[in-house]
Amino acid sequence: MNRRTFFVLLGVPGAGKGTQAKLLEERLGRPQVSTGDIFRYNLKNKTALGLLAQSYMDKGELVPDEVTIRMVEDRLQQADAAQGAILDGFPRNLIQAEALGRMTAPYGGISLVPLIHISDEEAMLRITGRRVCRSCGAVYHTAFNPPKAEGVCDLDGGELYQRDDDKPETVRNRLYVYYKQTSPLIGYYFAKGLLVELDGKRSIESVQSELIGLLAEKEVAQ
Ligand code: ADP
Ligand code: ADP
Repeated sequence: MNRRTFFVLLGVPGAGKGTQAKLLEERLGRPQVSTGDIFRYNLKNKTALGLLAQSYMDKGELVPDEVTIRMVEDRLQQADAAQGAILDGFPRNLIQAEALGRMTAPYGGISLVPLIHISDEEAMLRITGRRVCRSCGAVYHTAFNPPKAEGVCDLDGGELYQRDDDKPETVRNRLYVYYKQTSPLIGYYFAKGLLVELDGKRSIESVQSELIGLLAEKEVAQ
């Protein structure tokens, strides 16, 4: 069997999953697979998938499972995922979790599910200050993780923008959708012995070093 390592990052919108996954990607040599980023890429390029996803994303609702699951299946078959992946934003409900279980079963299944905890108040502060680079997708925060020059990406000079779904009205619905549909995954992965919980209200570097320790332990154990 060709064993691969799959990690699933869980947490409310704004918990820091994308920020952490991007850092882990470089350090673990496994790609970040962010369904939100893939949808946004398709939206930017006006593909059929992007147009379909937009109506759901604008309301803070989940894009239908069938579409999302097929998209992740395709993504995990790409060459850069030959040793596994860091999943961020997927799965988001039990149907997606079961599908991911089936996709990863031939390679040894999911290795670990870190849950990054922050309060809802902190989530609101983080999301409403989030800014994203239009060209490379790098994530900043106006107060907590500002770029060197306002409105400009440190990495490639791209323009920073606020996601449409990061406006307060949509954020509240996204939190509601999280508690209703995604939070049952906490119990689901706990019961499988895969869940580890982390305090996310610390510096980006401190969360990252705890994650690296946890994931490295898993890789060594396999
Ligand atoms: P998620 O992918 O879970 O929605 P992000 O990684 O996009 O979360 O982070 C949400 C916002 O919070 C971003 O603006 C990011 O810069 C900021 N952020 C991420 N981690 C931290 C942290 N540990 N402390 C303060 N702000 C953070
Ligand atoms: P955040 O990082 O703030 O949690 P994401 O970028 O993960 O936000 O997701 C943005 C939007 O993209 C979601 O509100 C939803 O509409 C859509 N989306 C992302 N991932 C999924 C998924 N696994 N299933 C269904 N919809 C998704």
